[in-house]
Amino acid sequence: MALKLDSKIPAGALADKWSNHKAAIKVVSPANKRKLDIIIVGTGLGGASAAASLGEMGYNVKVFCIQDSPRRAHSIAAQGGINAAKNYQNDNDSVYRLFYDTIKGGDYRAREANVYRLAEVSNLIIDQCVAQGVPFAREYGGLLANRSFGGAQVSRTF
Ligand SMILES: Cc1cc2nc3c(=O)[nH]c(=O)nc-3n(C[C@H](O)[C@H](O)[C@H](O)COP(=O)(O)OP(=O)(O)OC[C@H]3O[C@@H](n4cnc5c(N)ncnc54)[C@H](O)[C@@H]3O)c2cc1C
Repeated sequence: MALKLDSKIPAGALADKWSNHKAAIKVVSPANKRKLDIIIVGTGLGGASAAASLGEMGYNVKVFCIQDSPRRAHSIAAQGGINAAKNYQNDNDSVYRLFYDTIKGGDYRAREANVYRLAEVSNLIIDQCVAQGVPFAREYGGLLANRSFGGAQVSRTF
């Protein structure tokens, strides 16, 4: 019998699935966060940003990696950029356009609800990266620069 993967995507309309889930999720009292140990395996952008954010929230975080230095994760190789629908270039970008381009760029094989959530929080991801020190390219005036990248019709790559 073929195994069916349960990806546990919440119910509801596509654009609301993860927002509704987040609104209904149980939260941990600030007084209790410091009583909880969280173990994170990996210090790339995924693990390191999760560790920094959870540590800032007050949890006891322990991070592990296999390289000589935490910064040697595969993530340091990335240099093309990260897409976000901030529409800084005023070229009619939107969460829906980023969602659509990403689904299309993934040959229609990605999980739509998760890609929609990625597009929806893309702007927050850039803000978080900037706050945590990711050295994005900037315009001469200091603002974050964008370019068109990967076949997109708009300039949304940071
Ligand atoms: C050359 C290159 C260019 C790229 N350019 C882009 C780009 O322009 N834009 C983009 O969006 N993406 C790009 N990517 C992809 C992107 O870099 C990765 O998808 C992303 O960095 C993965 O981040 P991560 O935190 O999930 O994993 P990683 O950065 O790979 O980190 C994995 C971590 O897990 C640790 N680990 C693994 N196994 C164990 C274990 N058994 N025990 C303990 N620790 C373990 C590793 O030591 C490491 O710290 C590029 C990738 C490459 C290689």
